[in-house]
Amino acid sequence: MTNLTRADWESKANTLQVEGRAFINGEYCPAADGETFDCISPVDGRLLAKVASCDQADADRAVRNARATFNTGVWSQLAPAGRKAVMVRFAELIEEHAEELALLETLDMGKPISDSLNVDIASSAAALRWSGEAIDKIYDEVAPIAHDQLGLVTREAIGVVAAIVPWNFPLMVACWKLGPALATGNSVILKPSERSPLTAIRVARLAIEAGVPKGVLNVLPGYGHTVGKALALHMDVDSLVFTGSTRIAKQLQIYAGESNMKRVWLEAGGKSPNIVFADAPDLKVAAESAAAAIAFNQGEVCSAGSRLLVERSIMDHFLPMVVEALKTWKPGHPLDPATNMGALVDNQHLDTVLSYIESGHTDGAQLLIGGKRALTESGGAYVEPTLFGGVSNTMRIAREEIFGPVLSVIPFNSTQEAIEIANDTPYGLAAAVWTSNISKAHLTAKALRAGIVWINQYDGDDMTAPFGGFKQSGNGRDKSLHAFDKYTELKATWIKL
Ligand code: NAD
Repeated sequence: MTNLTRADWESKANTLQVEGRAFINGEYCPAADGETFDCISPVDGRLLAKVASCDQADADRAVRNARATFNTGVWSQLAPAGRKAVMVRFAELIEEHAEELALLETLDMGKPISDSLNVDIASSAAALRWSGEAIDKIYDEVAPIAHDQLGLVTREAIGVVAAIVPWNFPLMVACWKLGPALATGNSVILKPSERSPLTAIRVARLAIEAGVPKGVLNVLPGYGHTVGKALALHMDVDSLVFTGSTRIAKQLQIYAGESNMKRVWLEAGGKSPNIVFADAPDLKVAAESAAAAIAFNQGEVCSAGSRLLVERSIMDHFLPMVVEALKTWKPGHPLDPATNMGALVDNQHLDTVLSYIESGHTDGAQLLIGGKRALTESGGAYVEPTLFGGVSNTMRIAREEIFGPVLSVIPFNSTQEAIEIANDTPYGLAAAVWTSNISKAHLTAKALRAGIVWINQYDGDDMTAPFGGFKQSGNGRDKSLHAFDKYTELKATWIKL
C-alpha cells in the first residue's frame, strides 16, 4: 500500500528511467540489427522508450546461451532449496521495487495505478514466491512393481522454455510462467507483448540481483511475427508456454509441428458466462459482481464475465441494478489512485472495441448504458463501460471476445437452457453461477464446460488453484502445482535388483 497522490505519481513518471533493451546472458543489449520500435503510453500518447525490436538472430543467441547455461547445471542442478532461496529473494526485490514497476505497468498499458500496485505487482511477487517455496516440498514416486525391480518415476526440468505473453497483465502473467519454469530448473526466454514490454525488461536485472545465474532468464522484446515466430519455430526450444489469443495459439501449434514438436501449452481467449438464477442469494451483490466482472482492467481480462445470462423472471428487476453498479466504474486518469478504470491498451484496440459496440447496435441489441469513447480530450484510449440488453447468443457481441468493457445480457427460462447457452461457445475458460440451491449450483457447475467455475462470486483467485480453460481457451494450467507439468518431463528409471 502507498499514500502517493496523482501528483506524486506524475512527478515520478517524469523522472522515470526506462530501459528498452533486450536482456541476454545477464546483460542488457540492443537487438542484433539495431532495430527499435516506439513504446507509446496509452495514458497520454507520450513516448516511453525506444524498445529493442528483436528477431531471429537475437532468438538464436538467447537460445544458445540458455541451452549452454542449462547444460552447466549451475541452475538446473542446484538443490531445490537453493533455487527456492533465490526465487524468494526475487519476489522480495519485486516488492521492494513495487512503485517503480507499477508505474511502468500503468504508463505502458493504461491500467489504474492502484490495480498495478495492488494486483499486478503484488500477484507477480506472490507467484514467484509460491513456486519457489513449493519446489523443495515436492517428492517423486516409486512405482509399485515386481519385488526384484525398483522403478523410479521422476520429474526433471525440460530444458529451454520460451514464454510468450500478452499485454493485459504483463508482469503477472509472465510470473505465472517464470515461477514454475525457474523453480523447476529451466532456462527461460521471455517474450513480452510489443504493447507492454517494460516491466519484463526491468525485472530481468532484479533476477540477477536475486542470484539467478546469467543466461537462465533472458528477455526478448519485439513483435510476434518476428521474434515470437522465431522462438516458436526454434529447433532448440523444448517447451513453448503461451498466453494470448486463440488465433495465435493455433498458429503456435502449427509452428511446433513444423519444427521440433516442442511442447506447446496455451492459455487463450474466453467468452465466459455469468449465470444469475432468480434464487441468487443476493441480487445486489450479483449485480455489483457482474459489473466488476466486465469493468475491472477495462474488460481486458481473459476470464471477463462478458455474457450475463439472467433468468427471465427477474430481468426487469435485476437489469437496473447492473446499470447502477456499472455507474460506479468510471474511466479516469490511470495515475490517480482513486481511478478504477483506466485506458485501453492503445488506439487500435479502442477502434476494435468501438466497432463491436457498433455491431451490437446493427444486430439489434438494446444499449442500456455507455457505448461511447470517453475522455477524448486526454488523447488517451478510454471507453465507457457498456451494457447491451436483448442480446441473442448468435450476435457477434455474444460470440466473439471483445476484450473491452462491453457486457451482453442474454435471457433464459430454465436451468437446462442456461447451460445450453453457456456452453454454446468455442471457448471454455470460466463461468459463474448464482443460486441459493446447492444442488442446482453443483449440477450446473458440473454441466459447464469451463476450466474455472465460480459459485455466488466472480473473482475467486489464488496461487493454489489452477487457472486455464477447456476447448479453444487452451490446454494445461497456470498456477498451482499442476502448472509444474508444463516445465518438466516425466522419466521412468528401471533398476534390476
Ligand atoms: P496475442 O495473441 O495477439 O499476442 C500474445 C503474444 O503472442 C504477444 O507477445 C505477441 O507478440 C505474440 N505473437 C503474436 N503473433 C505471434 C506469432 N505469429 N508467433 C509467435 N508469437 C506471436 O494476444 P494479446 O492481444 O497480447 O492478448 C489478449 C489475449 O490474451 C486475449 O485473447 C485474452 O483472452 C488472452 N489471455 C488469456 C489468458 C488466459 O490465462 N487464458 C490470460 C490473459 C490473456
